[in-house]
Amino acid sequence: MAHSQKLSPQALAELRERYRIERERRVRPDGTGQYLGAHAEFSYYAADPYASSESAEREPVRDRVDVAVVGGGFGGILAGARLRQQGIEHVRVIEKGGDFGGTWYWNRYPGIHCDIESHVYLPMLDETGYVPEWKYAPGEEIRRHAVRIAEKFGLCADALFSTSVTSLVWDETSDTWIVTTDRGDKFQATYVVTATGTLSELKLPGIPGIEKFKGHTFHTSRWDYGYTGGTPDGGLTRLADKRVGVVGTGATGIQVVPKLSEDAGHLYVFQRTPSTVDVRANRRTTARDVDADRPGWASERRDNFLRLVSGEPVNADLVADGWTSSAALLEKLLPSFRRQGDREAFEAAYEAMDAAKMNEIRSRVDQVVTDPATAEKLKPWYRYACKRPAFSDLYLQAFNRDNVTLVDTAETHGIERMTEHGVVVGDTEYELDCLIFATGFSVGVSGVHSGRLPVHGRDGVHLQDAWRQRGPRTLHGFTSHGFPNLIQMGGVQSTSSVNYTHVLDEHAVHAAALVAGAEAQDAVIEPSREAEETWIAVCAQGAPDHEWFHAECTPGYYNAEGRGRPNGPLAYPHGAVAFHALLKQWREVSMGEVLRVRRTPQP
Ligand code: NDP
Repeated sequence: MAHSQKLSPQALAELRERYRIERERRVRPDGTGQYLGAHAEFSYYAADPYASSESAEREPVRDRVDVAVVGGGFGGILAGARLRQQGIEHVRVIEKGGDFGGTWYWNRYPGIHCDIESHVYLPMLDETGYVPEWKYAPGEEIRRHAVRIAEKFGLCADALFSTSVTSLVWDETSDTWIVTTDRGDKFQATYVVTATGTLSELKLPGIPGIEKFKGHTFHTSRWDYGYTGGTPDGGLTRLADKRVGVVGTGATGIQVVPKLSEDAGHLYVFQRTPSTVDVRANRRTTARDVDADRPGWASERRDNFLRLVSGEPVNADLVADGWTSSAALLEKLLPSFRRQGDREAFEAAYEAMDAAKMNEIRSRVDQVVTDPATAEKLKPWYRYACKRPAFSDLYLQAFNRDNVTLVDTAETHGIERMTEHGVVVGDTEYELDCLIFATGFSVGVSGVHSGRLPVHGRDGVHLQDAWRQRGPRTLHGFTSHGFPNLIQMGGVQSTSSVNYTHVLDEHAVHAAALVAGAEAQDAVIEPSREAEETWIAVCAQGAPDHEWFHAECTPGYYNAEGRGRPNGPLAYPHGAVAFHALLKQWREVSMGEVLRVRRTPQP
């Protein structure tokens, strides 16, 4: 790797100390408690600006389906598509938004793009024949692709949009789930698949006085084009005479700031921790570039990417970008460490690579940003991938414009307070017409394990109660004893990866195979307690590797604001490539262990 030159022991020691100091000044005693959800007086932040009025009125549904899929983002769409491929007929997707798309339904802010190469991020390219037009696709192209898959697999007619599931109750007498929603629906489903996402509830900073601000305000995941003018491509002409503030410089802030800077009268960027901003080099692509005439080209490319970012051997780097060359350095090195087991050598190699990469990122700031004081503030002082790495060829450049001011809030742990006119940092009040929150999403609040969606399994046991004392209990993250025919996707005790749609697709294939297996044998899906215990022991083996890294990181949603990795002990430790292989083998050899004969005959 080009950036793996060695630093002297003294340089490394100084760097460690600098990182420690930066972390210390950012950790807040209130941790994740510093944020507000969009509830009660703040619920207007979560209102759906995109739903059509047609979705407002409909009769409640009272029937029976084969599978209820909770969530219509890529997870739910892929579950539906894979179920259809298995011949399952009546699949109903229930989705809070007004259409399919999940993240890409809600997030339509100016500048929105995929930060993973589109040809590996957009799922089912082989099946749909679609070839993305850009190496990193704009959000609208991705949203349309989500709808394309839903249409191709016939998921639209029976989907319930602008609808939230309010409870799932297992009915022993009929061996079905009773699904109720906030639209008065009450229907039976033989199986339930939950695909409720990980970062789906927007959060706001609990800045004192936030409710006092009299200017216009919204969150990036509910962009108000009525106020700003323009589209996700830009042209926010109504901001020409406005003083606009944006809070947050994570993956979203990095994409939105360049577009705002083009059109706002003046833009104030309130930064607490700078992101690592590496080269993007987006470009138009053709089918030829990605060899799209060859059957299976997309799944091959996606596998290649996953292997690369997981540190597994490959013959070629098909994607060849910032992720495959250096991102997620930890993920890249862990597999070889596990094979060789020499922790000291591993940590030394990792730290050296990391330091060199971060020095490269910091030098780029100096190369691009002309004002040295601004450049200094934009330099990140933490280890690579402590926060999700960002890529942009426009973000740092925006700070060279006269109408853009960077306001560093690190010393004051973020914005100190808000007034009716604007934002206070240190001794300065920044008067604003509009304040936009690019402050991200809460982790672990959606899904059945959060308790937000009540799930009552056999004997009426609440899932939260079943897991209260000893934590989540699953087989492979998908199924749990006492909760028959409930399949959780993308949840705890499985794996994740930077290319999350790939993970979701593998989970969807697995979920569909479980349902098909149960249908074929007229069985109910339910793991034994022993199977859960064995799986939890497997997951527990790898926890420390991730924990030591994230525990020392600068705070953020990756590590519960500086308190460790939120799902550290709860993930399969050997990476996504190994997990997917394990699932495949289990389906071929051992799936029968979770299938037990149905007590009630199916109609
Ligand atoms: P993040 O949680 O990554 O960033 C939130 C930002 O808000 C941080 O910069 C944070 O600072 C800042 N912030 C929070 N509170 C305050 C405060 N009180 N004062 C000042 N600043 C504050 O959210 P994003 O929406 O940027 O990204 C979330 C995730 O969504 C990404 O990591 C990524 O997984 C995904 N995403 C993916 C994209 C894609 O193309 N695939 C595009 C955009 C997002 P601090 O860092 O100090 O906490």
